[in-house]
Amino acid sequence: MNHNEHSMNNASLFERSKTLVPGGVHSPVRSFKGLHRTPIFVTEGNGAYIKDVEGNEYIDFCMSFGPLILGHQNSIVKKEIISALDRGWSFGACEPYSLKLVDYITTRIPFVEMMRFVNSGTEAVMTALRLAKGITGRNLIVKFNGCFHGHVDSMLIKAGSGLAGTSEATSKGISPRVAEETLVLELNDRQGVSDLFKKYPGQIAAIIIEPLPANNGLLVQHQSFLQFLREVTLEDGALLIFDEVISGFRVGFGGMAEKLGITPDLVTYGKIIGGGMPVGAIGGSKKFMEHLAPIGGVYQAGTLSANPLAMTAGYSTLQQLTSENYSLLESYTQKIISVFQTFFQQYNQGQFSEITMAQYGSLFWFVPGKDIHSLKDIPNSLSNKFYELFKVFLDRGIYLAPNAYEVSFVSLAHDEKVIEDLKQKLLF
Ligand SMILES: *Cc1c(COP(=O)(O)O)cnc(C)c1O
Repeated sequence: MNHNEHSMNNASLFERSKTLVPGGVHSPVRSFKGLHRTPIFVTEGNGAYIKDVEGNEYIDFCMSFGPLILGHQNSIVKKEIISALDRGWSFGACEPYSLKLVDYITTRIPFVEMMRFVNSGTEAVMTALRLAKGITGRNLIVKFNGCFHGHVDSMLIKAGSGLAGTSEATSKGISPRVAEETLVLELNDRQGVSDLFKKYPGQIAAIIIEPLPANNGLLVQHQSFLQFLREVTLEDGALLIFDEVISGFRVGFGGMAEKLGITPDLVTYGKIIGGGMPVGAIGGSKKFMEHLAPIGGVYQAGTLSANPLAMTAGYSTLQQLTSENYSLLESYTQKIISVFQTFFQQYNQGQFSEITMAQYGSLFWFVPGKDIHSLKDIPNSLSNKFYELFKVFLDRGIYLAPNAYEVSFVSLAHDEKVIEDLKQKLLF
């Protein structure tokens, strides 16, 4: 170790970062905002573990916010990325690697007849919305409070606090005209959806929803609500977009569309589809997808789209997602949840005893309260409880996404050995 490395610690790196990068971070939630604690600077990840610059090791339940369903440095993915590296890492031309990935997905998810690759989930959503507007010739988009669709302007919108039916941007820098074209409802509000179609007949281009909302806690929806959205959109000629950036390849290979038996018109993927490399994708029927340039009139392009390293990482990740592995993931998740539950009962005279856990597949979320299915049901006490919990976990070598509204992710690397280690860290 040279002199420089000796002096590296989380606090000094964060101080230095703050002078060079806004808030010291390249994505806001990484800053540990509200936690009154310095973020850890991760230097490596291996299996279910990450290590920080001070040499502390943690069991990782953030897993890069979802992409790493196989764990850090899965040996097969790593080998494939290294061979891809030997062939060059960007061509800006047609290449066979993305075709392998499209082929693999389209043969397994029937409603996805065609795909287009981009570089992030945000880009995928942005393109899907433009495509929906281009196909329908309409301008309005309906979204739901509690669903996150990346940082495209038209999705950083919530229901207005004033008059019913008004919309407000959740960020500065968004034109009120853009905000007006996004209509926002509460999850599970059927009446609201019907009313909007009555108020704006033939004007709504699409409803976009996370079929498993997992970015503001885990707000599991009734199948019947999503089915209802499918029916009303079909009736009106609007499109239904499933944003499966988190749920795609996570809850099962075909995501929530497959789980629920509901076919959206367009789907967006991200996270797992790139195996930890930057990838997003839009999928749907040939008749809709062919509205994209160069055949159709909806423009979309990308210098690094379908990057060969990313395509290779995605392909070798998806190939390992067998139904046996999904069952294994769920069984690890059940065991992990039961360790946490035991901990909540016994820690510090019941300090955390009101915390319950929401779970769906290999996703879980700590929440004080039961039966939470929409943003407005989440108790205000959530953040404070989480801050206490997060610090206790961090001190015991357990890393969660540093925000109460983020879910946790289990990977195939969180095996029996790791579960035993979790028990050691929490129960003894
Ligand atoms: C993560 C996420 C996005 C944004 O993807 P990025 O790759 O971060 O741009 C969009 N929608 C959903 C449902 C997500 O979970």
